[in-house]
Amino acid sequence: FDSKLPRTGTTIFTQMSELAAKHQAINLSQGFPDFDGPSELLNRVDHYIQQGANQYAPMTGVPTLRQAIQSKLSRCYNHQADVDTDITVTSGATEALFATISAFVQQGDEVIVFDPAYDSYDPAIRLNGGIPVHIALLPPSFAIDWQTVANAVTEKTKIIIVNSPHNPTGTVFSSNDLDALYELAEQHDLLVLSDEVYEHIVFEGAEHQSVLRHKALAKRSVVVSSFGKTYHTTGWKIGYCVAPAALMAEVRKVHQYLTFSSSTPMQLALADYLAAHPEHDEILPSFYQQKRDFFNKAMSSSRFTFTPSPGTYFQLMDYSAIQDIPDSEFALWLIETAGVAAIPISVFYQTPPEDLRLVRFCFAKQTSTLSDAAKQLITL
Ligand code: PMP
Ligand code: GLN
Repeated sequence: FDSKLPRTGTTIFTQMSELAAKHQAINLSQGFPDFDGPSELLNRVDHYIQQGANQYAPMTGVPTLRQAIQSKLSRCYNHQADVDTDITVTSGATEALFATISAFVQQGDEVIVFDPAYDSYDPAIRLNGGIPVHIALLPPSFAIDWQTVANAVTEKTKIIIVNSPHNPTGTVFSSNDLDALYELAEQHDLLVLSDEVYEHIVFEGAEHQSVLRHKALAKRSVVVSSFGKTYHTTGWKIGYCVAPAALMAEVRKVHQYLTFSSSTPMQLALADYLAAHPEHDEILPSFYQQKRDFFNKAMSSSRFTFTPSPGTYFQLMDYSAIQDIPDSEFALWLIETAGVAAIPISVFYQTPPEDLRLVRFCFAKQTSTLSDAAKQLITL
């Protein structure tokens, strides 16, 4: 048979976590916390399982969770979503991204993605017969040059995928980015797929620039988020997407045959927790900023160089003072030499800049893990 994805291998996250386990390295590669979410949330899952909430959830998500999401969207972004038509709970953000791309991309449609890009976008576009158009963002700022984007738009361009706060660089959108995105999308009648899974992890008191804040832009956007990031529950795989009813109707046509619905007890537990603890979103930035600052301080005597990440739970570090080798090689060397796993970022580029000397560390870890890792890294 002909492979539908001939150039796609196993994702870097699986590769690096497996290598970390094999070498018993400290795993700062794949992005997940090494601590649990709030015990009240975990206990609610148990509660609902014992209550018998163990059968299919409604296709669009349990009503109490959609209601809690609606309140949160109103509170955080002043966005008034219709609970019945505009919100769908999915099996992680990954499913929402795939369902949205499948719902709209037709043979030959072009989709703009910004490299370094989260690795699920490109294969999802290709599987649907689309053509990913990669625009490289370059260090140190990784900022989007909207004129370059405008030049890349053709009459075949259907969707533009944006991701703020951005994995793997940590960069965040300004309100100017939203305006520029809106102008471009409006002028060329583009759909916007906005991956906002790190919406509540923005530092230094900055506001997350959700596409939902921009009323006209929200009308042509599907916004995707994930409870995995916000509630330290990446393994639950519960996410959601938000879009105007007409767009959401198309996404649901795919979602209902991709997974139909997502885990019932977890949705019910999240619904209760969201409704009872709206303050969780507000605490999260300082919770992660402390971790970022702790790790960066511990690394300050190392030969890595870096500027503090503005968002996400990732920190890029430049290793050029330690080794002058490509980042994938460096990541292997790092596991073997320092016993610490990181993610090379060239894998997120279609054409990586040749002199890229950056790796990504995940700081969603206990202080002891971060401190143990830094102790190893400062010896290099
Ligand atoms: N988008 C981005 C930018 C991510 O970093 C992740 C990873 N965790 C996802 C989507 C997927 O989220 P989920 O685990 O909820 O599927
Ligand atoms: N989003 C996580 C990361 O960037 C990984 C998700 C996954 O393993 N698929 O590390």
